[in-house]
Amino acid sequence: MTANKPHLSDYIINTNWTEEQKDEYICTHFGEDSSAHHNAVVPPVYESSLHVFNTFETFLDVQKDELNNYVYLRGTNPTVEIAEKKLAALERGDLCKCFSSGMAAISTAILALVKTGDHVLCVGNLYDTTFKLLNYLQKFGVDFTITHSCDMNDIAAEVQSNTTVIFMESPTSLTFQLFDIPAIVDLAKQKNIYTVIDNTWSTPLYQKPLLFGIDVVVHSAAKYLGGHSDILGGAIIARQEVMERIFYNEFMLFGGVMHAHEAWLLIRGLRTLPVRMKQHQQSGTKIAHMLANHPAIKKVNYPGLPSHPHYELGKKQLCGYSGLLSFELQDDSFETVKRVINELKLFSIGFSFGSYESLVLSPNHGDNLDELKKYNIDPGLIRISVGLENVDMLIDDLTQALNKII
Ligand SMILES: *Cc1c(COP(=O)(O)O)cnc(C)c1O
Repeated sequence: MTANKPHLSDYIINTNWTEEQKDEYICTHFGEDSSAHHNAVVPPVYESSLHVFNTFETFLDVQKDELNNYVYLRGTNPTVEIAEKKLAALERGDLCKCFSSGMAAISTAILALVKTGDHVLCVGNLYDTTFKLLNYLQKFGVDFTITHSCDMNDIAAEVQSNTTVIFMESPTSLTFQLFDIPAIVDLAKQKNIYTVIDNTWSTPLYQKPLLFGIDVVVHSAAKYLGGHSDILGGAIIARQEVMERIFYNEFMLFGGVMHAHEAWLLIRGLRTLPVRMKQHQQSGTKIAHMLANHPAIKKVNYPGLPSHPHYELGKKQLCGYSGLLSFELQDDSFETVKRVINELKLFSIGFSFGSYESLVLSPNHGDNLDELKKYNIDPGLIRISVGLENVDMLIDDLTQALNKII
């Protein structure tokens, strides 16, 4: 049994490397030891629910430290651990634990940081299911409010005496607003509030929130990290003390763990993350510019466009832009939104993002105008995930669909 823990101390990375070179090394090689697997270059899928021991004494010793030993699959697994080491290193955090889904990671993170009577402040729009989770938690006496303002004075005014968590996405994944992460961290630290960020849009390559002082980063691995629309998974990355607490409490108790085969696919996805992200960025930027010049469109929401209201802030916080963006039609009727979506040929209609295939959807479902208003979302908003198809073909497709409505 080796104590093989995903810790930053085995971060054997040449200090002359740029941050980008480190990330590329982490994605391709870091956290792997082929000598432990008969020199197989690709690590095996450890489909084993438990590990066995030669003596009862060893078992008793090892099970006192499940975080650092392989005992039972609800704790650690050698394949999953490789993915965890890579994600921790990419985020420059101490430890990562992987989960069965992004929501398993998000619910675990929130439940770790609240108790009855506490308040969660949501800065900007969150993933829809995260809001549903916070609604659900009201039955345990945990309250939440949302502020849509990007102004720090407005955000500070929303902090209550019982606020224990500030939860945000920056950029938000429908409207692509950005928030001043260091300023929010400052505010939170003054008031002993934990900060949690959902970093799914940026991936750890394009934003490293822990370096700005954020306490907890969460991810859905089904998006860019996996990148091939074939897994569901999530992750939490944080400093040692926070992760240890989460591991022995919410992680082991709720049991929403990632399985070895999922981790194996995630590791495979991570190997190409840097090259995929470059392409998503390049195609996303080209498409955002094309959309911004189309007469059927009122507004394009993409942090990589110099016309984006938070472009300068983005340049301080982000080191790149992924391929998920939205645009708002001049004619915001449901009929027109539906028409554009249905006219697209290369963009499939589907719920996720961040994979090889281009996707489209709208939060306007034709019967939820009140809800859109509540969340500050324009009814003419259409979100596209720019995939890895030929970008000129995607542009032609968008152009023909948008030309139908002018
Ligand atoms: C998809 C997604 C989630 C939820 O992740 P699942 O893996 O679907 O549970 C959370 N946050 C964001 C930003 C997402 O895109």
